[in-house]
Amino acid sequence: MFVYADHAATTKMSDAALKAYTMTAEEVYGNPSSLHSAGQRAKEVLTACRERIASVLGADAREIYFTSGGSESDNQAILSAAYAGKKKGKCKLVSTAIEHHAVFHTLNKLKKEGFEVVLLPVGENGIVSVSDVEAALGDDVALVSVMLANNEIGTIQPVEAIGALCKARGILFHTDAVQAVGHIPVQVDAIGCDYLALSAHKFGGPKGVGALYVRRGAPLSSLIEGGAQERGKRAGTEDLPAIAAMTAALEASVSDMDAASALLKHLQDKLIAGLETIPHCALNGDRTRRLPGNVSFCFEGIEGESLLLLLDEKGICASSGSACTSGSLDPSHVLLAIGRVHDVAHGSLRLTLGTDNTEAQIDYTIAAVKEVVDYLRNMSPVWRDLREGRRSYIL
Ligand SMILES: *Cc1c(COP(=O)(O)O)cnc(C)c1O
Repeated sequence: MFVYADHAATTKMSDAALKAYTMTAEEVYGNPSSLHSAGQRAKEVLTACRERIASVLGADAREIYFTSGGSESDNQAILSAAYAGKKKGKCKLVSTAIEHHAVFHTLNKLKKEGFEVVLLPVGENGIVSVSDVEAALGDDVALVSVMLANNEIGTIQPVEAIGALCKARGILFHTDAVQAVGHIPVQVDAIGCDYLALSAHKFGGPKGVGALYVRRGAPLSSLIEGGAQERGKRAGTEDLPAIAAMTAALEASVSDMDAASALLKHLQDKLIAGLETIPHCALNGDRTRRLPGNVSFCFEGIEGESLLLLLDEKGICASSGSACTSGSLDPSHVLLAIGRVHDVAHGSLRLTLGTDNTEAQIDYTIAAVKEVVDYLRNMSPVWRDLREGRRSYIL
């Protein structure tokens, strides 16, 4: 059986998106900056997409900037606010310990440039405390950046309360909403954010396209110099087929949201209940305040990488929370932030579901994870030490 359970990494393009993509690529190939009729037709489509995306988010079309995706949007928002703040003597940036690398590494770059970066801790449930955010605010803060929903453990952050705090103090607020948009309701005024990043491929759109919402009046500088596209803030000929596909995907996922969310919650509950029958494991992140379809676990006494490879042999595409790429053996900063010790954090598994997943796939996945965890534990010297009492269980 083939089970794609890595929707937080990327999704398959939806039918609506594919249709919009091919239709636009075939028929609307003019350059929106060209003055002739083919260009003007493309410009009309571009304008309509901007309006439709703005409408879904409760924004004004002039507040939507098309980008190459979530990473670019995060970078542009954070750098714009930081450099604008610096000119006014505000050199402090407040964020959390569980942000995506697109935020985390941008903050690190600014830290090297002399900014003070405060990364607030999260509770064991993977949620930042509003009073911690409040305590970190002051006249020297250029930007607060708190993600809407976490990509590893799915926890939903109290962004509305944080937005209200920032607004009351006139502090700019950015939220990385890449995991949330298209999956849970997202309205820029309810959140009270000045910047919001989204990415098409996380909600059934194509890869390499996204958007940045920027509230009118909030500072915005460009990362890419060139033509005057996107009101001079993002040079480069617009990828109109991708933008049209992103727009169609967003509308489709929003109109299907209630049904999708109910189905995903049902599959998620079933998967969590099934995996919890495995001894010495723990669900990562808050049980209820999490994205529908996100299931993240740590299993004691195993290595997440081996688990992934063996699941892949059984046709299951999953992810581990750990960032063991490019030779780094550091476990995920998110799992460490919720208090998992190194050894436990290494035994992580993230399964993120989509509406194509079925009950039968969930049953199959539960059985496969049980079998593989058992197999790996039987080979693990750490597990033998635990069983024979030379080490004590943490989970
Ligand atoms: C995927 C993701 C990103 C990066 O988006 P890209 O479009 O892949 O650059 C940023 N933040 C979060 C939370 C994500 O899940």
